[in-house]
Amino acid sequence: MAADIKKIISEMTLEEKAGLCSGLDFWHTKGIERLNIPSIMMADGPHGLRKKTEGSDDIGVKKSVPATCFPTASTLACSWDRKLLQKVGEAIGEECNAEEVGILLGPGVNIKRSPLCGRNFEYYSEDPCLSSELAASFIQGVQSQGVGTSIKHFAANNQERLRMTIDSIVDERTLREIYLASFEGAVKKSRPWTVMCSYNRLNGEYCSEKRSLLTDILREEWGFDGFVVSDWGAVNERVEALAAGLELEMPSSRGEGDKKIVEAVKSGKLSEKVLDQAVERLLTIIFKAAENNKKGMPYDKEKHHRLAREAAAECIVLLKNEGGILPLKKEGTYAIIGDFAKNPRYQGGGSSHVNPTKLDNAYDEINKIIEGYGKILYAKGYRDDIGEAGNLSAGEFASNSDEPDDGLISEAQEIAAKADVAIVFAGLPESYESEGYDRKHMRIPDGQRKLIEAVANVQKNTVVVLCNGSPVEMPWIDNVKGVLECYLGGQAGGGAIADILFGIKNPCGKLAETFPVRLNDNPSFLNFPGDNKKVEYREGIFVGYRYYDTKGLPPLFPFGYGLSYTSFEYTGISIDKTEISDNETVQISVKVKNTGNMKGKEIVQVYVRDVESTVIRPDKELKGFEKVELAPGEEKTVVITLDKRAFAYYDTEIGNWHVESGEFEILVGRSSADIALKEKITVKSTEHIKKRYTRNSTLGEIMSDPGKFEIMKQYFKNVMGPVSAEEIAAMSMSSMVSAMPLRSLISLFKGSFTEEKLEEVLKILNG
Ligand code: BGC
Repeated sequence: MAADIKKIISEMTLEEKAGLCSGLDFWHTKGIERLNIPSIMMADGPHGLRKKTEGSDDIGVKKSVPATCFPTASTLACSWDRKLLQKVGEAIGEECNAEEVGILLGPGVNIKRSPLCGRNFEYYSEDPCLSSELAASFIQGVQSQGVGTSIKHFAANNQERLRMTIDSIVDERTLREIYLASFEGAVKKSRPWTVMCSYNRLNGEYCSEKRSLLTDILREEWGFDGFVVSDWGAVNERVEALAAGLELEMPSSRGEGDKKIVEAVKSGKLSEKVLDQAVERLLTIIFKAAENNKKGMPYDKEKHHRLAREAAAECIVLLKNEGGILPLKKEGTYAIIGDFAKNPRYQGGGSSHVNPTKLDNAYDEINKIIEGYGKILYAKGYRDDIGEAGNLSAGEFASNSDEPDDGLISEAQEIAAKADVAIVFAGLPESYESEGYDRKHMRIPDGQRKLIEAVANVQKNTVVVLCNGSPVEMPWIDNVKGVLECYLGGQAGGGAIADILFGIKNPCGKLAETFPVRLNDNPSFLNFPGDNKKVEYREGIFVGYRYYDTKGLPPLFPFGYGLSYTSFEYTGISIDKTEISDNETVQISVKVKNTGNMKGKEIVQVYVRDVESTVIRPDKELKGFEKVELAPGEEKTVVITLDKRAFAYYDTEIGNWHVESGEFEILVGRSSADIALKEKITVKSTEHIKKRYTRNSTLGEIMSDPGKFEIMKQYFKNVMGPVSAEEIAAMSMSSMVSAMPLRSLISLFKGSFTEEKLEEVLKILNG
């Protein structure tokens, strides 16, 4: 029977209520036996369950119960597959039930501002539409199992350096259109039970005590109705945080935070009503978790392992396939080179680190596929990574594999020369990417770069298999025929790589972020990671492809890019209306045909471009996508619906989303750089923004509103005669004059236009 929360609150003491607002220990909320309030457990997240084992360290980094390690978020995002994210979420939800965990601390939806952020592997994309859509499906999956989620880290936490104190300086439009939008879509669509606020400050205030963020935007605008939990240790001032809308402080504050709340209520600094409301929100979710959790329900480990393999294969991105070197035939001699083939790089370091139920490697999985047909030669190629992720000081890569090992390289060359194809496994060692620090550069270790070059020198058929959580520079790309970007594929990633290499699966992943040619090309380059106090997001809305496409700077691989073993043709774009008001929706249909001879999946992407705008806008923005499976020769019609938000920008003057009436282009394509088809649509705003004219409004501004310009000409005609009205009209045709403020007409009309008349005109214009 559902608990009567209001009654329970009325029976709680002030101390009990304050106490409920912080954790019992590192992972649990407090239970109160006399009132039958249960204690629930939270655990990381996001790509598998990390529940600490009894007796291990508090943080649980060292030992956690075995759980399926799914591909990390950066990997899953390359699937662009909502259903897959939902399935992975369901499976993790089942594992939470088995381990009696009530809330999973994920997903992470921070935007990838720079490829250097050490935690990028835990996040989805540089694009808020893709990120929030995938997060919404993941949340729906987990929560369908009666387990809550905690979407994190809210907000503008886009680097690890000084993450607990750094002040992210972000202008409002950028915040709304990029960084908050990644949360907004998911919060509205999938109603996560909790939101985790981030450590950092945002425009001067700690996110943990920023009312505009935690209450005004999150609850009042987006309708969030769960509770806000602090990132572990993110609370600065407990009472301010509670008043701002942060209900649960984690982990335990050892009673300190609770004491401050009690004192604040007693002294009248904090209204008891605020505390009661927080307790009500907490109890609602605590009881929901306790009542819905299918405690101890076993799950099928093998089934989850198979799902992990399927998921990883859906995410692998084929970046290069010169001369159709891939897929490989089972027959042949293959030189498998690189330690990662046997000791896979499959997840990142820090709080998301999962203790996998089992671990496949590509070497064994390739062996299983070609056994009886082909032959494998193996060379390690580079030394192991001895740095342990998460245990390094900021930016320090204590990796042993950095330095080239000439002996290992010549051994690799020897076997490469004897083989039909060399497959080099490379990427980023574990010590390079972790929670807690950022990368300093975008290169793979020198030892690996030299290895690729040396192997390609002796073997023209070289394929590179990359395992890394974030983009890397590829100065060697022209020397090799094939490149697979596998990101961090989870515990079954090795099998997925083998499946793709040998054509058991057709690659169908596409990049969820841009790979720049070099780090310096990235738009945040000049302002990442900021100084000792603040980081300014000076590139504004121009994050990722929004920057590269607008500037016309070709990246190494664009956002949305990925090849297949088959080919797809796009035809017959149509839209169901050519003109809409901003409160209507429009349907875009496009035919996609598999024109090759292998079954495959294509990710159809819809971008929108504002043809003419008075505000600065990116060249194009992703507004919809769909993944579709097609047999050879098969054609399907993909339909994507767009609404107001697809055409709107965030207008800081009106404090809302606004569509500027006019023409827009709908661009449908294979990536942000490969647009196959276009259509035009006119969108009319239903809002009338009342503009206030001042003495400094320009003639051009007045002209852009034909109605107002007519009123002004009429005034001149009535008060100063037709000649002046004509002069005004003629003058405003010149671009130099149209930039003049109204006040300059006083000197232009040599005394016939006065301050008094200027006042009169303004009164008329402002109606
Ligand atoms: C991380 C969170 C994580 C929490 C609990 C923090 O350091 O930033 O993502 O959920 O620890 O482990």
